[in-house]
Amino acid sequence: MKNKQFKTETKKLLDLMINSIYTNKDIFLRELISNASDAIDKLYYRSLTDKNIKVKHKDLEIFISLDKEKRTITIEDNGCGMTKEELEENLGTICKSGSEIFKEENEKKKNIDIIGQFGVGFYSAFMVSDEVRVESKALDSNESYLWISNGMDGYTIESSNKKENGTIITLKLKEDTEDDNYSHYLEEYEIKHLVKKYSDYITYPIKMVCTHNHLNDKKENVEHKEVETLNSLVPIWKKNKNKIKEEEYNNFYMEKFSDYTKPDDIIHINAEGIVTYDGILFIPGSTPYTYYTKEFEKGLQLYSNGVLIMDKCSDLLPDYFSFVKGVIDSPDLKLNISRETLQQSKVLKLIAKNVENKIKKELENLKDNDRSKYEKIYNNFGVQLKYGIYNNFGMDKEKLQDLLLFYSSVKKEMVTLKEYVSRMKEDQDKIYYATGDTTDKIDMLPQVEMFKEKGYEVLYLTDVVDEFTMQSIVEYENKKIVNVASNEANINDEDKEKLEKLNSDNLDMLKTMKEAIDEVSDVKFTNRLKNHPVCLTNEGAISSGMEKTLNALSKEKINAKLVLEINENHPISKKLQDLYKTDKKQLEEYSKVLYAQARLIEGLNIENPTEISSIICNLIAK
Ligand code: ADP
Repeated sequence: MKNKQFKTETKKLLDLMINSIYTNKDIFLRELISNASDAIDKLYYRSLTDKNIKVKHKDLEIFISLDKEKRTITIEDNGCGMTKEELEENLGTICKSGSEIFKEENEKKKNIDIIGQFGVGFYSAFMVSDEVRVESKALDSNESYLWISNGMDGYTIESSNKKENGTIITLKLKEDTEDDNYSHYLEEYEIKHLVKKYSDYITYPIKMVCTHNHLNDKKENVEHKEVETLNSLVPIWKKNKNKIKEEEYNNFYMEKFSDYTKPDDIIHINAEGIVTYDGILFIPGSTPYTYYTKEFEKGLQLYSNGVLIMDKCSDLLPDYFSFVKGVIDSPDLKLNISRETLQQSKVLKLIAKNVENKIKKELENLKDNDRSKYEKIYNNFGVQLKYGIYNNFGMDKEKLQDLLLFYSSVKKEMVTLKEYVSRMKEDQDKIYYATGDTTDKIDMLPQVEMFKEKGYEVLYLTDVVDEFTMQSIVEYENKKIVNVASNEANINDEDKEKLEKLNSDNLDMLKTMKEAIDEVSDVKFTNRLKNHPVCLTNEGAISSGMEKTLNALSKEKINAKLVLEINENHPISKKLQDLYKTDKKQLEEYSKVLYAQARLIEGLNIENPTEISSIICNLIAK
């Protein structure tokens, strides 16, 4: 028979796995049992809506058998099975996106657990086997097939005569070596141990023929064999919270949600009241690769009395908590409920509300009592919370604003709005923030200087969405939130009249400057600066930072109403006034240079770098 080759990525992955980047070989059993359980889920799920499929939940099972002589382990399920095409597609290739990411990771030589993360669980069988046979009959097909591979030279596929739907996977174990003992997988106690450790949460019985010794009437030692169920069949979410070890939660999470890092936080809920449900929610320990892409699908797994009814029920999670994973199981939900009626279901809405509250409470609890853990979670998913405030015209801001953290100029660490307000200076009536690429750059902004001098705390915002979020909040505890660069944020009240007079006396000069620059809505003297000669501020809602973001997102050009402010106490102020009297041409050139400087300080582009450069060169050459 002709051998079919694995696709290149698959081959690479196999090599890597066999040569064991992943050292814990035990997990092969967990992976195969999980696949079997998924296949049974699929079958059962279909039977709920398709009257032609007749299955009884109690008949569904996974069966393990060991054969010491042949050195084989067999894992059999009566799930949906695979057609010939599915055997080739599912076992002959690995999912494309996964393999691409895998390649990158491999090039970076990161020694991470790639198994599971990219849905390559089945291949882990080759870590312990010389040969893997997969015999399968799909539910809708009259034919069955046998797929065989040694993991290296591709695979063969041929007809077989399996009668019942489902899959039988037979592993021919490798010979023992000095370092690795594969034979212990042929021992009943070892398999029992592995099932308990990794697969106890599986909701279908995992059975095996087990040997028992006992003494007969004549006090002779006799052996007898008996089918035993190895898993407890009580799903982890229905177990007593106090009796579950953290490791058990972590294993459950990592296996169920194909994550390779353990969760940062676990919320186990047993709710009784208007609705009854059990559930476990997890906050992942890292941001999934796809999280901020369209591919990401939010949702919780939904069960009715231990039976899966939907894999990703998106109605259970608001968008701002879309990063949460988990399972919900309620006896109040009907098994054969259609997706449409489910969406309308009052029970589901109540559960969703309850879940949302639990997540919010838990995040608040972590924020108040375990700040470093909260910061880690916030680093991974905080942007989602900020979007949550900005979306829906700020409708959810009350719910979310206390979960936000921003870098503080005073504390040099992340703080909440509440903490900020609690230590505001007596004479301070607003909450101030400044924006930029990094906190270091913001710290050097001219507009921030005066605030530091006065001892006012400034929040340094570095995420593109930050300022939009702040503008959605508008005010917090009756304190208006303003950008230090806005015209509302001048905190220097001294000698206002002097400044006003300076501006009105020089109205014509300032007008000349404005016309020379052409891009600003105003030019004026300011007392908000200390040492710096110039800065940019904005009139209206759109700041220069927002202008940058908006223009990166849309083709339509959006302009912030920028104002060039000149430090009244800087020598340049006098110089400009002199030039206005003696050399208007040079005043125009100076204006352009000062404006370019102000833009550069803000991290903005300048439109006419060549012109600016030659003006400066001419000045230097003088
Ligand atoms: P994953 O389970 O993460 O998708 P695997 O490599 O473990 O990745 O399996 C690939 C695919 O092969 C599965 O998604 C499933 O469609 C199919 N498969 C594996 N084992 C079985 C089985 N016992 N019965 C039916 N289909 C299976």
